Amino acid sequence: MPEVDRAAAGRAAIAARRARAVVKDAVHRRERRALEVAEVAWADPASPEGTMRVRELLMSMPGMGPTRVARTMEELAIADAKRVGGLGPRQREKLRSWLGSREGIPARSRLVVLAGPTAVGKGTVSSHIRDNYPEVLLSVSATTRPPRPGEVDGRHYYFVDDDTFDRMIAQGEFLEYATVHNASRYGTPRPPIDAALASGRSVLLEIDLQGARAVKRAMPEALLVFLLPPSWEELVRRLTGRGTESAAEQARRLETAKVELAAQDEFDVKVVNHDVGRAAREVVELLAVPGTPSARTRS
Ligand code: 5GP
Repeated sequence: MPEVDRAAAGRAAIAARRARAVVKDAVHRRERRALEVAEVAWADPASPEGTMRVRELLMSMPGMGPTRVARTMEELAIADAKRVGGLGPRQREKLRSWLGSREGIPARSRLVVLAGPTAVGKGTVSSHIRDNYPEVLLSVSATTRPPRPGEVDGRHYYFVDDDTFDRMIAQGEFLEYATVHNASRYGTPRPPIDAALASGRSVLLEIDLQGARAVKRAMPEALLVFLLPPSWEELVRRLTGRGTESAAEQARRLETAKVELAAQDEFDVKVVNHDVGRAAREVVELLAVPGTPSARTRS
């Protein structure tokens, strides 16, 4: 680098460091909230807020010392050198939720949509959430398919006949509805979702891909989560291992899964389903419901 450029770069670096110091000072004096600084960082990663290391931001918060900062970084699984503006979508969500609870900002209610390819385990993850996180409001869809053994009307689905489903469509009761696997119809009732969001509660929808897209069109503020298999081979194993479908049906589902996997980049956040409990926890964290394990980890 020529001498003049090097000198200019040096001056720019000093100016940037000064600008970051001003931000940190403002957080330390409680003139600015760390969460607000993070939001600025994500809107503009090249800003002083964006180029600040996460560690520095946490250190500037009142009551945070090196030990607590180190523990928090570990909890949030954020590498030591990471800059706030350089965080990926999932880490942003985690940090946002952590900062929100630490700074006493009530969690925003939000609509989270969980989708993913056939047989990735969406149903298992949402059942796990239903059974282990009673504070999460899981939307109950209406469907025209008959109940499977053990499924309870009003808990797993509202099992309705075709006429009732048609009437619900006519009355505008669905946020979205679709025919899934060319078979039965499924729809997401809108009134309970509107009521929950209005009262400050977050809602989780477990629906198919076309449903997720329809929700995003109707409610752009919804957070779309894509559940990924640990690998393609594992997805094939899960898809064929069910043993409930014919060979032709299995081949058709594999083809569908390929197309569905290609949709992952339309989603805001991806969660890998290595393990049901872990995937469920990650989804619940995204809901940022006060009182969930993520909020309880605050010190
Ligand atoms: P299952 O019949 O196995 O419970 O669900 C079949 C598929 O329907 C799953 O992919 C599930 O995500 C999807 N599904 C369940 N409820 C809804 C809904 O309300 N809307 C849409 N679009 N898909 C749904």
